[in-house]
Amino acid sequence: MNEITDNMSSDSISSKPLMLFNSMTRKLEAFTPVHEGEARVYTCGPTVYNYPHIGNMRAYVFADLLGRTLSWKGYKLTHVINITDVGHLTDDGDAGEDKLEKAAAERAQSIWDIARHYTEAYWEDIKALNIRQPAHWSIATDYVPQMIEYAKAIADKHCYELDSGLYFDVSTVADYGRLARAATEDGEGRIEAVEGKRNAADFAIWRKTPEGESRQMEWDSPWGKGAPGWHLECSVMSEALLGLPFDIHTGGIDHREIHHPNEIAQNQAHSGCDHSGAQFWMHNNFLIDRSGKMSKSSGEFLRLQLLIDKGIHPLAYRLMCMQAHYRSELEFSWDNLIAALTRLKRIVMGVERLQERLATAQDAKAPHPKIAEIRDQLNAAISNDLNSPPVIPLLEELLSLKKIDAAQRMDLLQEIDLLLGLNLGKLTRVDLRLPPKSVSISETEIEQKLDMRQQSKIAKDFAAADAIRDDLMAQGVELMDGDPLRWEWSIKI
Ligand code: AMP
Ligand code: ZN
Repeated sequence: MNEITDNMSSDSISSKPLMLFNSMTRKLEAFTPVHEGEARVYTCGPTVYNYPHIGNMRAYVFADLLGRTLSWKGYKLTHVINITDVGHLTDDGDAGEDKLEKAAAERAQSIWDIARHYTEAYWEDIKALNIRQPAHWSIATDYVPQMIEYAKAIADKHCYELDSGLYFDVSTVADYGRLARAATEDGEGRIEAVEGKRNAADFAIWRKTPEGESRQMEWDSPWGKGAPGWHLECSVMSEALLGLPFDIHTGGIDHREIHHPNEIAQNQAHSGCDHSGAQFWMHNNFLIDRSGKMSKSSGEFLRLQLLIDKGIHPLAYRLMCMQAHYRSELEFSWDNLIAALTRLKRIVMGVERLQERLATAQDAKAPHPKIAEIRDQLNAAISNDLNSPPVIPLLEELLSLKKIDAAQRMDLLQEIDLLLGLNLGKLTRVDLRLPPKSVSISETEIEQKLDMRQQSKIAKDFAAADAIRDDLMAQGVELMDGDPLRWEWSIKI
């Protein structure tokens, strides 16, 4: 059910243009691929010095929705997500230390172990959120020789050397910073001065290991021992794996200010033309909490595992993301998340009922016009810059149309889920009843107590039935007699 095949896309789906918001022009533009029938997408991946927070994961849920949409529209998708295991400094400009070096020093661990541990943790979150595997996970440290060659190729015309490294001179390319636009001023304000830099926005593409020091991760280069700059990585890996220009480059909105303008400058230098390197630059907005943007460096942050420990299925978070347009800020609150979980439970129950109907379905019926109508609405929403929020009520409407042939409803349901990625049809109500870590009672014990309570009620021993209810309540289990969802019980979150 999770497989999207190229032949899924019928004419009516592919003939409607896919309009995407291009951060470069700040306009909606119709997607037309560089290579006929293909879609090549590069997504800036995580810096693996810590666990990803759920805000980071919003960036990958968005990239996944984009990839699923392109597949649904009939394009052969090649998606690359990189893993930054070297080069990302504590400030996106040129200030501070390498995030991984810093984490390794603080924890007295090998940088390679840190990178491996957090890469695996990130991949677990990718799986838990039902994000499809990209064609390539490109690991930055695997590409260092190519990065050195790339830097050599642009050094003479576009770079200069300082004691601290090889710097890119942004005045050597046309229209530097056009992606960031008005925000450029702010962006530059954040860049710490490095003595000898020709322009405030110049950035290191190779950082030399200071004299007399050694780093855990360093390589020989024509500019001395050192490590590549973060921006260089993405330019090298995207060009190596997708070719320039490719179709779409994605990332969080913060990348619009420094990281992506710097990638673009390098792409221009290396290709020798003014093309930015990608047809579309797309950015998801932030997941915020009341105090502002969620960040890893602020110490306390929300990991997907924390949600799971509290008994909230990760796909409830995915649904919460789908309930907002990717370009809107999304405010995190536990209430919103619990509301998304309840909504997901209702959807899953609707799917279970549909599966029951399908099992007893009669002969095939003529195509029902309402199915085509919903499908058109789905196509209209998703083709409008991946407008996912209206898709969820469409799904709910489809589940409520009990008079319409189950097989036709199931086909469309599967198609909707190919886009939303909620794993419908496989996800069960038992999956959604994750016990919070703090609760020690098992499902079997709960079910046994419910049986006993049922017996007490039959015997009209209401005092015993109430005692069981109170006992369960004390253990965090809430009974929901007459619950319209027929959920019977849930564990308090
Ligand atoms: P990092 O690991 O810091 O390089 O970030 C990984 C991805 O998460 C990047 O695309 C960031 O732009 C994105 N990102 C960071 N914070 C947030 C947030 N609060 N909400 C959404 N995306 C974010
Ligand atoms: Zn990047």
